[in-house]
Amino acid sequence: MYAPSIQRLISELGKLPGIGARTAQRLAFHILRASSEDAAALAESITEVKLRIRLCEVCFNLADEPRCRICTDERRDAGLICVVEEAGDVIPVERTHEYRGRYHVLGGALSPIDGVDPEDLKMAELYRRVDDRTQPIREVVLATNPTTTGEATALHIADVLRERAPEVIVTRLASGLPVGGDLEYADEVTLGKALLGRRQM
Ligand SMILES: [Zn+2]
Repeated sequence: MYAPSIQRLISELGKLPGIGARTAQRLAFHILRASSEDAAALAESITEVKLRIRLCEVCFNLADEPRCRICTDERRDAGLICVVEEAGDVIPVERTHEYRGRYHVLGGALSPIDGVDPEDLKMAELYRRVDDRTQPIREVVLATNPTTTGEATALHIADVLRERAPEVIVTRLASGLPVGGDLEYADEVTLGKALLGRRQM
């Protein structure tokens, strides 16, 4: 129906989450109408982000240096680690302005049905951080999503930490977050309250 190059653009855009065939078409035509500069800026930003962005060697958040901005910020409390499923979950927690510690991004949640086991997540790396006596950890806040897999992940980590580092306080976000929802979609007031009201596991 379309020239091959347009068809290619439509099919690439259609791979993005939440973009159906019609939206992909609409975006493709928008790009066709855009100036060459704007289209080039979009293409370059995609190339650049894939070239530059990597995972922080400490917390696995997105970074454009070996360590992310939060891990290198000396004003952040290094004794406090907030564990989240995805790098995208750091943003909503930051937006609450209620959290001044550091993070640990697991890269997903435990889901044996989908074949996601502890080895598939950055769990061993979390335990190593907790074990590292040069940087004592007081508290680990489990901020995985309030979903079945998120809860299972939090329980699993809490069990391991209780065995491995009984001196570390392990907390979970207070209820009030929409059950079954993702942290990403929680508003900052609700999430801020859930952080302040976190309870020990
Ligand atoms: Zn980091």
